Amino acid sequence: MSETELSHLLSNKGLRRTPQRIQVLKSLEKARQPLSAEDIQKSFRSYVCDLATIYRNLQQLEQAGLLEKTFFSDQVARYRLCGPGKPAHSHHIECRKCHKVQVINDCLLSAQVKSLEKIGYRQISHRLEFQATCPDCA
Ligand SMILES: [Zn+2]
Ligand SMILES: [Zn+2]
Repeated sequence: MSETELSHLLSNKGLRRTPQRIQVLKSLEKARQPLSAEDIQKSFRSYVCDLATIYRNLQQLEQAGLLEKTFFSDQVARYRLCGPGKPAHSHHIECRKCHKVQVINDCLLSAQVKSLEKIGYRQISHRLEFQATCPDCA
């Protein structure tokens, strides 16, 4: 996505364009797996951005529905860009040995979510991550 497209993404959600937000979105867009605030901080090459600012921006972007937060075995919050062209929701499988993470785009719980919506629950979210020994390590 170009910077203009990223700016549109922000303005569509009522968020102001700031260099920090653009940089956070850019690094998440390039990433092949969810990134922690510290991973994102390393991508700020041109200037230093403190972690508190990055956390605050991640939280705002998550609340706006642009990011999905997830946790792997180390319990560090990691974020993934949700759209456009990326799934709004996904699961992951992490290797216990090499900690490689793969995205699972199919939600196995969509039937469950639908039946909860039927009885009146709204804005349902859930997290489910798999741990395994990957084919390379098995
Ligand atoms: Zn592995
Ligand atoms: Zn799911």
